[in-house]
Amino acid sequence: MTGRRLLVVLGNQLFAPDRLESCRDAVVFMAEDVGLCTYVKHHQQKIVLFLAAMRSYADELRAAGFEVRYLPLDAGAGAYEDRLAAVVAELDCRQLLHFEVEDKPVEARLVEFCAQRSLQRVELRSPMFLGTRQDFREFADDRQRLLMGDYYRRQRQRTGILIDADGKPDGGKWSFDAANRRKLPKGLQPPEVAPAPRTRHVDAVIGIVEQHFADHPGRASDFWWPTTREQARQWLQDFLDERLAQFGPYEDAISQRSQTVFHSVLSPSLNIGLLTPGEVLDAVLERYSAGNLPIASVEGFVRQVLGWREYIRGFYWLQMPGYQHSNFLEAKRPLPDFFWTAETDMNCLHQSIETTRRNAYAHHIQRLMIIGNFALLTSLAPAEVEEWYLLVYADAFEWVELPNTHGMALFADGGLLASKPYSASGAYINRMSDYCSGCRFNPGEKLGEDACPFNYLYWYFLISKEKLLRSNPRMGLAYRNLFNKPRSEIEAIMLQSEQFLANLDPGVVRS
Ligand code: FAD
Ligand code: SF4
Repeated sequence: MTGRRLLVVLGNQLFAPDRLESCRDAVVFMAEDVGLCTYVKHHQQKIVLFLAAMRSYADELRAAGFEVRYLPLDAGAGAYEDRLAAVVAELDCRQLLHFEVEDKPVEARLVEFCAQRSLQRVELRSPMFLGTRQDFREFADDRQRLLMGDYYRRQRQRTGILIDADGKPDGGKWSFDAANRRKLPKGLQPPEVAPAPRTRHVDAVIGIVEQHFADHPGRASDFWWPTTREQARQWLQDFLDERLAQFGPYEDAISQRSQTVFHSVLSPSLNIGLLTPGEVLDAVLERYSAGNLPIASVEGFVRQVLGWREYIRGFYWLQMPGYQHSNFLEAKRPLPDFFWTAETDMNCLHQSIETTRRNAYAHHIQRLMIIGNFALLTSLAPAEVEEWYLLVYADAFEWVELPNTHGMALFADGGLLASKPYSASGAYINRMSDYCSGCRFNPGEKLGEDACPFNYLYWYFLISKEKLLRSNPRMGLAYRNLFNKPRSEIEAIMLQSEQFLANLDPGVVRS
């Protein structure tokens, strides 16, 4: 047979070599692409993660006997497609294989590439998820609302995870969500997550990033992420040993004393294929069956990986293309400068953005209830907020960033994903964090110079979006509380909010 089969592996498809067994005869194509590093100004650590992990993966594949064509970063080499086309021509390739591509625009490029050259395209099932896109479509078919809880239950039933012999959920409940909301007590210090040891590839790539991407946010030299499968598995073990037991109760806790609290910090490894959700859940369930782990922690974690992560992926594929174009709340304000500098007197925002700058990470509640909540209440333009989330976090890819930001945090889809906006005042942040004691504002004050801005902005949001939100049945109580306020208070809220918003300056990207 003339011609070779070519397996294109993207930087977020670094699956264990045994997943590639059916393509042993194929040449593996991997290329570091300047365009993908720069189409948004990705955090420097995210670029280090990508390139160093890709280089280690090429080593891993070669050690497993695969033939790899690896093209390093080269600014003058042209577009990804041109470099791929050169290898296709050289190998007289007729068949191109690839794993399911999760980001729709990237998939479209690969599809077009093959169509233009009449290359046979073979798509391999991705081990990055337990469910299939088709299964999610079937779940969605007969439903008006796509509730995560319903999909999660279906996933539990389908996989048998945390299901007893009678088909009932372990612990008697499908969700222990109500047990996941404790504030971090003073005497409890979560363990530090130890940075992964630096490989020779990490050292080399830090130099490249400092040279070529110096104007991107963050600092490459602060890099701390796993870039090999072995390192990612070590982080998984550390999570099981040191943090899983406390994951449940403190899942929503926010603290200045720990930027990772009891979270797993595994999302980048899961999203580039160094870990699969299957192996992560197997490891968690093995520990659970050995005893001594609370069901609220185990179920809480399973819900994130088997529920939320898979639901978000299915939802993205159902809504794309076009999902990002809605702007239900008519939000238009540009991103303020402090999203890049972290320089703001609002301590909760300062802390959450500063950890994002330093670590290319913030946990879910910082992303949703601090930064996202602020963006929602101040009507920041969805496209600008989404680009920010996409570039600052090491785990960010469109398939997962977009539904979380556009749907969950900003309610820009009008409620396709969340049944109501995740809006909150300073009272919530004060209840769940220790930020307010170090803040120049007072969460107990509703109006005036020292009042927490989240307090008046919360009501201003309800007032200014009334025609869009009032008919939402889940907003009934909030609007009843609003309408009980005296006219004078509403006027004062409007005045102070408008002054605050007038002082938000538009941002420019800064390193
Ligand atoms: P843990 O709290 O330890 O949770 C375990 C795992 O569950 C995570 O590693 C992740 O894989 C999965 N998970 C939990 N919640 C979600 C969720 N809502 N969506 C998808 N997976 C979830 N997650 C990303 O992976 N990439 C993103 O770009 C991203 N952008 C987000 C943007 C916004 C506005 C919000 C509110 C959330 C976003 N998330 C994103 C979801 C979530 O915040 C991160 O997955 C989580 O913070 C990663 O940290 P962890 O690994 O310590 O998570
Ligand atoms: Fe944030 Fe308000 Fe608390 Fe300050 S007082 S940390 S602005 S919630």
